[in-house]
Amino acid sequence: MDGTLLTTIDGASEADVSLAVSSARAAFDDGRWSGLAPAERKKVLHRIANRIEAEALELAVLGIRDNGTELAMALRAEPGSAAGTFRYYAEALDKVAGEVAPTAPGVLGLVHRAPVGVVAAIVPWNFPLMIGAWKLAPALAMGNSVVLKPAETASLSLLRLAEICSECGLPDGVLNVVTGSGVETGAALAHSMGVDVLAFTGSGATGRRLLEASAASNLKRCYLELGGKSPNIVFADAPDLAHAAKVSAAGIFRNSGQVCVAGSRLLVEVSVHDEFVEMLKEQAEMLRVGDPLDTDTQIGAVNSEDQLRRNLSFMDKAVSEGGKVVTGGFRILQETGGSYMAPTIVTGVTRDATLFQREVFGPVLAVSAFETEEEALSLANGTEFGLAAGVWTSNLSRAHKMVAGIRAGVVHVNTYGGADNTVPLGGVGQSGNGHDKSLHALDKYVDLKTAWIQL
Ligand code: NAD
Repeated sequence: MDGTLLTTIDGASEADVSLAVSSARAAFDDGRWSGLAPAERKKVLHRIANRIEAEALELAVLGIRDNGTELAMALRAEPGSAAGTFRYYAEALDKVAGEVAPTAPGVLGLVHRAPVGVVAAIVPWNFPLMIGAWKLAPALAMGNSVVLKPAETASLSLLRLAEICSECGLPDGVLNVVTGSGVETGAALAHSMGVDVLAFTGSGATGRRLLEASAASNLKRCYLELGGKSPNIVFADAPDLAHAAKVSAAGIFRNSGQVCVAGSRLLVEVSVHDEFVEMLKEQAEMLRVGDPLDTDTQIGAVNSEDQLRRNLSFMDKAVSEGGKVVTGGFRILQETGGSYMAPTIVTGVTRDATLFQREVFGPVLAVSAFETEEEALSLANGTEFGLAAGVWTSNLSRAHKMVAGIRAGVVHVNTYGGADNTVPLGGVGQSGNGHDKSLHALDKYVDLKTAWIQL
């Protein structure tokens, strides 16, 4: 935010991680949480949701001091979303049942949904509370114990959430938090023989290491929510181009582009390309970037100096590969001591350009023009990722064809972003395989167990 040191936090060693995993295992085995009636677990999760709501401002500010997200966005996406997630899974947990299999007479086949045991959750810094809750709430709802590792640059709001969970009646040992670096604390968790399921959100490079760790240890099940380079496709028949420009600008620039589903590739039909880029440029230049705790601010800070340097490193390359920077491309507000980048738009980005293929995770929009629906689809599917997409059109059949044809976990039509807890969020391809949210997420935290009974 302003470059000053806020606090320091201890890093958990391998021995600390082992202690946390043992504590989670002991809590699971003695049934202090896993053995409760679902209705009792529901009460605790509701209480947690209520407390998150009651402390929303404090939690949001704690997170902002860590990661620089603008206040309005942080309030909505962090405590707002986390409370909703705990409430959603509190409501869901006694409405999902096992199965009676359609067997032949004389036998009874029952399919139980048994908690897996110890879940490790490793989360990133961009929305710690929201993404943490996406893993914690369904895992706890199904009766598991959890060891949570926040990102090293965004631990504070999750540490407070752990206190809240305890104050709301979650028994000791059921939720354990280990702070520290990825290479030490995270790796120890990933290699632990006592972790049954690993739920991760972060970069593809780390995701690969987690799979290796699983293979080298106990073959724990890994769910990976990884990065994206999501296409936002604007056809000339979009219902309202000005509205599309406004929403598309928010879709890439909010939280300084540090959003996994950010619409970072704009594909725009050539006949409206210049007009639409002009509208977007106007939107980008109107955004008030600055102190994330100022209520007038629309876009806050970049998470760290390292991340800002990384964002800027894409700019020279973008130009050398034929792109044209129409706005932004540079650091701003350096006098504040904070890390801020101007919302940036680069046009003329070709399919093989770095800016088309690589995730920046910053406020940088790559624009490419297309002529036909087929070309739009081919460009949309032209990266290794498949997390999110947007389509703007008033042609219903075209919208459905694009939804069917785009390889992505979520396709927004005539909007961008903003899906709630009722629908899953997850990717395909190198955007990973783990779906958070919705009733489907509960399946990640259970094992199917069959009872085959001769009558
Ligand atoms: P990251 O992979 O560097 O770190 C994520 C977490 O993994 C952190 O807690 C980190 O400490 C830990 N970690 C790092 N190395 C580790 C290792 N060797 N072993 C175990 N744990 C390790 O990612 P980041 O920079 O924090 O987050 C940005 C990335 O996350 C972007 O690629 C972004 O797209 C992605 N992301 C995806 C989603 C989604 O839902 N798909 C959401 C948010 C962010």
